[in-house]
Amino acid sequence: MNSVVVTKFGGSSLADASQFSKVKEIVFADSNRRYVVPSAPGKRNAKDTKITDLLYLCHAHVMTGISLDDVFKHVYERYTGIVNDLGLDFDIQKHLGIVKKDLEAGASKEYAASRGEYLNGLILAKYLGYEFVDAKNVIVFNNDGTLNSKETDELLRNTLRNVEKAVIPGFYGADKEGNIITFSRGGSDVTGALIAASIEADLYENWTDVSGFLMADPRIVENPKAISRITYKELRELSYMGASVLHEEAIFPVRRMGIPINIKNTNRPEDEGTYIVQDTDEKECKTITGIAGKKDFTVISIEKAMMNSELGFCRKVLSVLEMNNVSFENMPSGIDTVCVVISDSELKNKTDKIVEEIRRACDPDSVVVHPNMALIATVGKGMAKRKGVATRIFSALTNANVNIRMIDQGSSEMNILVGIENDDFERTIRAIYGAFN
Ligand code: ASP
Repeated sequence: MNSVVVTKFGGSSLADASQFSKVKEIVFADSNRRYVVPSAPGKRNAKDTKITDLLYLCHAHVMTGISLDDVFKHVYERYTGIVNDLGLDFDIQKHLGIVKKDLEAGASKEYAASRGEYLNGLILAKYLGYEFVDAKNVIVFNNDGTLNSKETDELLRNTLRNVEKAVIPGFYGADKEGNIITFSRGGSDVTGALIAASIEADLYENWTDVSGFLMADPRIVENPKAISRITYKELRELSYMGASVLHEEAIFPVRRMGIPINIKNTNRPEDEGTYIVQDTDEKECKTITGIAGKKDFTVISIEKAMMNSELGFCRKVLSVLEMNNVSFENMPSGIDTVCVVISDSELKNKTDKIVEEIRRACDPDSVVVHPNMALIATVGKGMAKRKGVATRIFSALTNANVNIRMIDQGSSEMNILVGIENDDFERTIRAIYGAFN
């Protein structure tokens, strides 16, 4: 069957010549893989440095009036090494020379960073025999640095309509004046998603160095199971709570078009990986899909007799947060109590000021601050309409001797959130994982 697949490879998948040859094998194994999006060469080992970081460093050197020669040498060696080891007849030195000159002449930070993908894209296009489409001609940014989705969509569609097979570097585009603009770090995922959406691809493959999403963080749970199918909504819940494989903004363009994403492992292409899909079959889905959590929250707990009958009480509390430019995470409430859960990175050192202002605005009986809290989300579409899920979580936590400070279940019945002490974080994740596996 003829379908169109957009295939993005992350930095570790293109870190050296041997990774390039795996990529070629993958691309050539399926003629539907017509549009390939590369990242810049990533780390070859734990101590290595990503090309993007070296390029940022080159720019910083120039800005501080230091020669970039020493740093650029590493960039030069990486790319010439890849081309030589692949035995490619390609004058990468010429392109490296242009980039170096531009950097020395004071090119922007975003231009500097984008060259990682640009140079890798040139090499990959040559190696695959695909056309090279420069992202600066198809990904359009507004003058304020935000993406111009409409123009990008049109340009991509019109350009790729006439191109059978192409390599389009990830991570950057340009504004109307031609200045290079980048997405935030990891942004090649976004480029791939935009391309897939614009041409209404059948599949967006995202090749990396793990075989998809795992049910829990492998640094906490030993050998967690892989997730074979997950809905966009579940993924959003888990990513928000700290699980990460894909750039957050990469979900929206493909989700809108109902295009599935398949996270695959370049080093183990035979593994099925994780499919991120619009919906999963209720009968097929497991009770829980994954567990993720974040540390360092503060809970401000406010108590006042007859709070339930006082109109506008919560609004007053939230106005104090708004006036202090602080957004909150969660707001569980009881008859005479309401709590606001706030990330410490939001709160900074404003706690005392906020407490004082809540006292003044709401005249409560008490305001108590609980610092050092963690939030853990157990996510799964399969928990809706299934009985006993919460019981399993809470019994597991009782057995693990974890004190639950807060509980919240989203109305979508897809997420049970528990608030615990930071110190109980790892123990809680292991206990919940154990209860369902
Ligand atoms: N090379 C860029 C980075 O390191 C973008 C990407 O890899 O997606 O963040």
